[in-house]
Amino acid sequence: MKRAQTRQVHVGQAAIGGGAPITIQSMTNTDTRDAVATIAQIRALVDAGCQIVRCTVPDMEAAGALKAIRAACPIPLVADVHFDHRLAMAALENGADKVRELVACAKDHGAPIRIGVNGGSLEKALYRKYGGPTPEALVQSALSHVALLEQAGFYEIVISLKASDVETTVAAYERMAQACPYPLHLGITEAGGGSAGLVKSAAGLGILLHQGLGDTLRISLTGEPVQEVEAARQLLRAMGLRKEGVEIVSCPTCGRTGFDLLPVVRRVEAALPKEGPYLKVAVMGCAVNGPGEARDADVGVAFAGDKGLLFQRGKLLGNRTREEAIGELIRLAKAMLAAQ
Ligand code: SF4
Repeated sequence: MKRAQTRQVHVGQAAIGGGAPITIQSMTNTDTRDAVATIAQIRALVDAGCQIVRCTVPDMEAAGALKAIRAACPIPLVADVHFDHRLAMAALENGADKVRELVACAKDHGAPIRIGVNGGSLEKALYRKYGGPTPEALVQSALSHVALLEQAGFYEIVISLKASDVETTVAAYERMAQACPYPLHLGITEAGGGSAGLVKSAAGLGILLHQGLGDTLRISLTGEPVQEVEAARQLLRAMGLRKEGVEIVSCPTCGRTGFDLLPVVRRVEAALPKEGPYLKVAVMGCAVNGPGEARDADVGVAFAGDKGLLFQRGKLLGNRTREEAIGELIRLAKAMLAAQ
């Protein structure tokens, strides 16, 4: 997939844009003033694969807590200051890596600025002019902020345009990519929770990623932020933009399966790491359509009744009992991972 060329900026040690791998962001939902709880959540996010984390900074007490949070945070920390310049300054002085405003202070501290246009907080004049948070209105809002920063000689900019529906978000990012070279932070805001939120985010972000757009992303979900990070990783893997961890290919099952495949898939998933080197493992439910996928995987099994046909890198290893096949599949996968 050919990615759009954008200007590269750095948030702490993380590169955004300019061909750098797409980074995964999330946002804590603890009270930032509670540094202990916020640090614990950041650690869980980092374990899940989060690469940049954002904390809301609603007041000076929260800005003060950033110092301790920054000291314990192993990834770049972004302060979400909602246009309050005093808070931005305090956040920077306590070590945050990115803020929305305050060019001079951002320059002094080498921090980029994220222009975050949100359909729900669009300027009134643009809302009236365009009749609502249309793609044109979102882009115009972002461009007016870009112009202000550029006039001040500041170009370390990341742009985020968020609407709560897929069509508006996609159209807005497409326009934005044509209008300026700055890296894009993708997201569908207020996507919801559960499968509805996941599907909505995957639909919108998938369209944009397929066009080569997007340099960093957050899947915003109602609920535990760790889920956002896991979903973002899965999306990047599904789009072929990340090759990491074990990818399990399993069939949806049908009348041919003849036994309950799901516990077997769960067992294989649980036995193999989600992180680390890439390996494709197929677990298929029958000997009609299963062997093709099993053969194409690095290691795979196609079950047939009580037996399983085992394949490794396209080669048929033989026919095993179901239990033997599962055990050998896991052993082979682990050995192949260890050999990488
Ligand atoms: Fe059905 Fe076989 Fe396809 Fe699985 S692989 S869905 S069991 S036909």
